[in-house]
Amino acid sequence: MLKKILIANRGEIAVRIIRACAEMGVRSVAIYTEPDRHALHVKRADEAYSLGEDPLAGYLDPHKIVSLAKQVGCDAIHPGYGFLSENAEFARLCEEQGLVFIGPKSDVIHKMGDKTQARDSMRAAGVPVTPGSEGNLADLDEALKLAEEIGYPVMLKATSGGGGRGIRRCDSAEELTVQYPRVISEATKAFGSAEVFLEKCIVNPKHIEVQVLADSQGNVIHLYERDCSIQRRNQKLIEIAPSPQLTPEQRNYIGELAVKAAQAVGYQNAGTVEFLLTGNQVYFMEMNTRVQVEHTITEQITGVDIVREQIQIASGLPLSYRQEDIQYRGYALQFRVNAEDPKNDFLPSFGRVSHYYAPGGPGVRVDTAIYTGYEIPPYFDSMCLKLVVWALRWDEVIARGQRALDDMRLHGIKTTANYYKEILAHEDFKRAEFNTSFVPDHPELLKYSEKTHPSEIALAIATAVAAHAGW
Ligand code: ADP
Ligand code: ADP
Ligand code: MG
Repeated sequence: MLKKILIANRGEIAVRIIRACAEMGVRSVAIYTEPDRHALHVKRADEAYSLGEDPLAGYLDPHKIVSLAKQVGCDAIHPGYGFLSENAEFARLCEEQGLVFIGPKSDVIHKMGDKTQARDSMRAAGVPVTPGSEGNLADLDEALKLAEEIGYPVMLKATSGGGGRGIRRCDSAEELTVQYPRVISEATKAFGSAEVFLEKCIVNPKHIEVQVLADSQGNVIHLYERDCSIQRRNQKLIEIAPSPQLTPEQRNYIGELAVKAAQAVGYQNAGTVEFLLTGNQVYFMEMNTRVQVEHTITEQITGVDIVREQIQIASGLPLSYRQEDIQYRGYALQFRVNAEDPKNDFLPSFGRVSHYYAPGGPGVRVDTAIYTGYEIPPYFDSMCLKLVVWALRWDEVIARGQRALDDMRLHGIKTTANYYKEILAHEDFKRAEFNTSFVPDHPELLKYSEKTHPSEIALAIATAVAAHAGW
């Protein structure tokens, strides 16, 4: 078993990994840059080391991180998500330097991080992919020709893209002509690669993704699916496990497809295979070769600790479960509470958390790195808290989500929490009928009234906490 792990990340995911280490008796090492000196992951890890003044450079410096890990006697690095997690060079450097990278092998990261290569591998393995490019586009003329062939609307995508960026829907040749240089420029800036490709735009699809786990002995299992159709600008807002929109046949088919995809590329560790679903047709979209933001909801419905499994797999041990051991129960929802103002086009709202009271009670889980008095730095992601609720039935989990969002007190910054209450209250959501157009189709949900104290109980709690804290 690994003994000491450096966590090459920050925020809630660093805290999540530190928690797994603590439960497994593994020593955890945090890294931080100066703006994060008072961050929770720094306080909570067994050891913490500064990587300099610049807010970002330290978190993105493979050589500095690897040499620190060796210097302080770590045997492994967990990359979390974002930052260097899907950087094949970083994984390769770890391999060369005798450190275990907690993820797949560097060549697999490389292959799946390149969306056109990933599509090729999937086609070869017999996994259906969205109709479109085979390889990257040479120029606009090729793009226009291919778009004519597959038919508009099309999606123009950055080959190395991620985080919902570098994707544009084009409904006509005119739009494609305008968007082509824009996507290239965005891809170059954000991902350091100008490569782009085209695929058919699936109109009003459901985003269904499958969590897989694979060990070094060749065992591959899936932990069922998540429905991430509630998105804004290709970024997930609310995630659901399992999808309330699948038949049992679709569920088994898509789970098996994901296992087939992972096997086809010799995948190891935790990963997610993302699909688009329309009617009964499933298309492979991409694979994320890391732990995902929304791994939490799969943990709630299956009881499997995904980060623990990641560490076990990286230690060379077999999976703790066979496919037939995996069962799911009830429904889980995750709300990505972002420090953003929904009323002001989701403008980031960084600053000091003047007052934070965590929701709790039955079926509630919170993953966050904020605390009362914490100053949210403006240099990083705006996601500041993940609220997860679980219940046996769909109607119960919605009610529980409403109640937990009401429980929470988060003052000093604007957040997306109230907006999520409006989504939960919508009839289509309650009927479990939605696709990736739900958010753009319902702009009226942004006009919610600011509810300061929705119930007397919540008010009483807040008052008691305030009194206790001496305000
Ligand atoms: P998930 O698929 O786990 O829901 P997201 O797409 O929300 O993850 O991304 C999680 C984090 O990783 C975000 O901070 C996002 O900006 C970042 N990220 C994801 N993919 C990339 C990438 N290819 N390059 C840079 N950052 C990325
Ligand atoms: P990222 O790497 O940024 O996560 P993805 O390829 O996973 O990019 O796409 C992100 C989102 O964009 C999807 O969840 C979906 O909502 C939308 N999308 C991507 N490709 C298509 C497509 N071909 N048709 C319709 N929607 C798409
Ligand atoms: Mg994706």
